Amino acid sequence: SSDEESGEEYLFKIVIIGDSAVGKSNLLSRYARNEFNMHSKATIGVEFQTQVMEIDNKEVKAQIWDTAGQERFRAVTSAYYRGAVGALIVYDISRRSTFDSIARWLDELKTHSDTTVAMMLVGNKCDLENIRAVSIEEGTTLAEAEGLFFMETSALDSTNVKKAFEIVIREIYNNVS
Ligand code: GDP
Ligand code: MG
Repeated sequence: SSDEESGEEYLFKIVIIGDSAVGKSNLLSRYARNEFNMHSKATIGVEFQTQVMEIDNKEVKAQIWDTAGQERFRAVTSAYYRGAVGALIVYDISRRSTFDSIARWLDELKTHSDTTVAMMLVGNKCDLENIRAVSIEEGTTLAEAEGLFFMETSALDSTNVKKAFEIVIREIYNNVS
């Protein structure tokens, strides 16, 4: 392609992190395949999905990594983080403990990254308003304090899923171009 000829091709690695069952795998399957699984098991899953986007008439490929459930054992390896230039750090708005874990996930991400990482704090399952345990304001406040983008999403009803990924991809593009 003309992109290849001009050397203008972009491949960005993005990782999704956060406690078990916050909806990481479903956010990715909703974004990449428009699929949702009510009974998804942590064990199955591909290493990553590649999504292509066009920015400034350039082809931008996002290689988005999902854990295979290692987070249950706090055993997400450095290989998972290696080369990542973007991250979605996910909690479940209906489970307080998953929000309390965000600081630890941020620490781990910072420990493993040697470059600028575009980071989005994601409060997933915003369809569960009736059992909300973390307010929008708490999410906003944490994100502002840590310099993260912030969005509440629902992989179930698709709210903000595309937006969350695309903001991160655009920010990475801005960081490198
Ligand atoms: P992961 O362990 O972080 O990868 O989480 P999964 O994607 O496997 O999701 C864990 C559970 O939460 C599954 O039963 C999903 O169906 C459910 N889930 C994921 N996202 C949402 C969401 O946005 N809303 C609701 N209500 N349930 C969700
Ligand atoms: Mg998963």
